[in-house]
Formats: sequence, structure tokens, C-alpha cells
Amino acid sequence: MKVLVLGAGVAGVAAAWYLRRDGHEVTVLERNDAVALETSFANGGQLSYSYVAPLASPSVIPKIPPWLLRRDSPLKFVPRWDAEQWRWIAAFLAACNRRQADVTTERLLRLAFYSRSLMHELIDREAIDFDYVRNGKLVVHTDPAAFESAKRLMAYQESLGCEQEALDAARTVELEPALAAMGPRIAGSIHTPSEDAGDCFKFANELARLMGAGENPVRLRFGVAIERLLALGRRVVGVETDRGVFEADRYVLALGTSAPAVVRPLGLRIPVYPLKGYSLTLPIADERAAPRISVTDYRRKVVYARLGNDLRVAGMADLAGRAPVIDTERVGQLIDEVKAAFPGATDFSRLQPWCGMRPATPRGTPILGATPYSNLFLDAGHGALGFTLALATGRVIADVIGGRRPAVPLDGLRYDD
Ligand SMILES: Cc1cc2nc3c(=O)[nH]c(=O)nc-3n(C[C@H](O)[C@H](O)[C@H](O)COP(=O)(O)OP(=O)(O)OC[C@H]3O[C@@H](n4cnc5c(N)ncnc54)[C@H](O)[C@@H]3O)c2cc1C
Repeated sequence: MKVLVLGAGVAGVAAAWYLRRDGHEVTVLERNDAVALETSFANGGQLSYSYVAPLASPSVIPKIPPWLLRRDSPLKFVPRWDAEQWRWIAAFLAACNRRQADVTTERLLRLAFYSRSLMHELIDREAIDFDYVRNGKLVVHTDPAAFESAKRLMAYQESLGCEQEALDAARTVELEPALAAMGPRIAGSIHTPSEDAGDCFKFANELARLMGAGENPVRLRFGVAIERLLALGRRVVGVETDRGVFEADRYVLALGTSAPAVVRPLGLRIPVYPLKGYSLTLPIADERAAPRISVTDYRRKVVYARLGNDLRVAGMADLAGRAPVIDTERVGQLIDEVKAAFPGATDFSRLQPWCGMRPATPRGTPILGATPYSNLFLDAGHGALGFTLALATGRVIADVIGGRRPAVPLDGLRYDD
């Protein structure tokens, strides 16, 4: 079959990868001149297979007022005259209860574990270089109460198959000596040896390189801006773009934060709203002062990953409209975090700041598979976990299109759920 994948972020590229493996004739349409230049460009680099708990949880509610009042808080809200923003917030608050948070965690863990097995299979089979490391992850807590509740979550996640251990401050610093400066503030940490990290931009580009070569190559059409989907009854018959109309048998929508606007004229609503985040890419100046294990500072919601000779630092969640504009104050806050956590580790003279828009759903789960249009499929709403989940979601889409039952149940992840 002819399949058009719309969007060449990490989600679209991963879907194209598995669709090609099924023997389809795949074309990817992308408005930029290369793969992964938007949200998949400089994210936190975490392949966070066991750390999937959603932002929407009961514990977040009491934190919201102080977060909203402090300028340097990890979460920022700038109200807009935008009904979508308010609808998203209402649905987010409705999801902030224990039952929903547990159900979401379970669904995301299933997808994430599946993604991990696909990633390991891919790495075993292909020569693919994206600064991938299997160094594990330390989630460091500076607040004793938060550490206690993290231990409870760990016990729950253990029942779902996660292998994690709680460490006291001394063991934490022993495992990752670069945390010495933070040492006196550490209440404890959760160590997950099975977490990976890598460079999402390089990963997507490597997949694109591999699938663009050999028999039945995927065609990547860059510089093509999608304007609208053309439908006849409950069937998509083409994609109108600034380069003309493209037609196929099946259409996969992997447009990140643009997905809702493209499907709205067809009468479809998908609750994806941009949650802006920031990252810094910093060359490492002192090997011993920079972490080798991926680190999350839980209280400040900042993640650190070693990518080749750089330290990638990412954080912040700003519900502040749709413009991917860098706020220099937010960058300054992230710089202060790195200086406090890993003093002397990096070279700030060669700092590369970036911001990206997470395609976030209120519950934190992606929206996958069939739609009321018989040949239109969604691969959307990957939120804070798009790099982690992309292989699983791509494979699920290929399975649904191929008429196979996906390896993970799609309850709660479908368009109508
Ligand atoms: C600061 C930050 C840190 C993060 N850290 C992590 C992490 O550590 N681990 C993790 O797993 N995830 C992380 N994420 C999330 C992850 O980056 C996203 O979930 C993921 O990149 C989403 O991929 P996507 O392909 O859905 O979207 P995108 O990468 O945005 O791809 C969508 C593509 O569609 C194209 N497009 C859109 N509209 C049109 C149009 N009209 N015509 C043509 N093309 C169009 C865009 O150009 C883009 O290339 C982070 C995100 C941020 C912002």
C-alpha cells in the first residue's frame, strides 16, 4: 500500500521505519528541510522507560500555587485568550487524581517497556550511532517527603515490572561522584539501572538514513507545508500542501503540536496542547565533574544526560501559548541550575540554548491508531516522552494499518478513549 506519513519528527520517522518494514511504499512529508528540527531536536535525551509517571497526579495540585507565584518555578502558566488552553487545563485538573494517575502510569509503562525492547532489538541489528548509552538513571530528591512518596511509587511500579532501588545520600554520591556538590542537600534517590539515553535528533536522522537506502526506500519530501486534509465522506483522499496534492491509501498523522489544527476541519478534536520546555547543550569541561549516569533533580524538574562530549540539560514546562520563542530568563534559570548542581563541569562559553513544544495531552498518554476516517491514523500527543515511546508507537501504527493486533493493548490510547 501507499502510505503518507505527515511529519518527520521522531514519531513520524519511527512510524515510517516500521511501515517500510511491512513492505509499504512510504513517503514522509515535512515542512522543514531535514528530519527532527522541531520538538525532536534537542530534548532531554532520556530514554525514560521506567520513569513515565504523568504530570497530572494528585501530588501536583498543592504545588501549583507556589509554582505559579515563583518566577523560577519549573512550571509556568501564562493565560491566553485560547479556548483550547482552558479546555486542556480543565481536562488536566480532572486527571489529577490517584486512580487516573495509576492507570496512566500503567499504560505508559506498557508502551515504554515495549519501546525498550524494540530499541534494544534495533541497536542489536543496525549500525546506528546516536550517542546512545545504557548508564541508568538517578532521580535525586532533596525534599525528604518527596523521597518518601517516591519510595511508595517505586513499590507500586515494582508490581508492574520496574527494577529500581532507593539509595540514601551517601550511596547516591558513591554511585555518581559528580553529585558531590549536591550531596549535602540530597535526601535520597531512586536508581533505575535499566534506563538509557541518547541524542533524539541523531537517532531520527540515523533512522532516516537507514530507511532511505536499500530496497523500497522511504521517500522523505522536505520543504512541503501541509495545508489541509481532503476528505470524501469518512475517507481521506489527499493532502493539500504548498507543493500540490499528495495521495495515498493510508495517512499517518505525526505532526506534533500541529496535529489538532490539521484534523479540526474534519471535525476531529485531539486534546494536544504545547507545553514549552528548554534545554541547554554544553560541552563538558571537566570529565569528573559531569555526571555519567542520567540524573533528574526531582524538585527542580531538571534532567541531565551525557550525550557524547556534551551535557544535555532540560527542564521547565510552560503553558504559555503556541510560539516556540526562547525566554532568556528561563534559560538563565536553567544555567543557574547547572552551575549549582555540577559546578565546573561544563563550558558555558559554548552554550546552545533551545526551546521546544511538547505535544502534551492532559493525561499524558499519546493518541494512537484509527480515527472515524477509515484510512487516517493518529500518532500524536507524545508529550514529555516522545523519544522514549517513538519506536513503540510507530510499531503500533504499523500493526494497526497492517491489520495485526498490537503487542500492547491500546485501551485509553485510542482517539475515542
Ligand atoms: C525540553 C524538552 C525535553 C524533552 N525531553 C525528553 C526526554 O528526555 N525524553 C523523551 O522521551 N522525550 C522528551 N521530550 C519530548 C519529545 O521531545 C517529544 O515528545 C517528541 O519530540 C515529539 O515528537 P513528534 O514527532 O511527535 O513531534 P515533532 O518533533 O514536533 O515532529 C512533528 C513534525 O511535524 C512537522 N510539521 C508540523 N506541522 C506541519 C505542517 N503543517 N506541514 C508539514 N510538516 C509539519 C514539524 O515540522 C515536525 O518536524 C522533551 C521535550 C522537550 C520540549
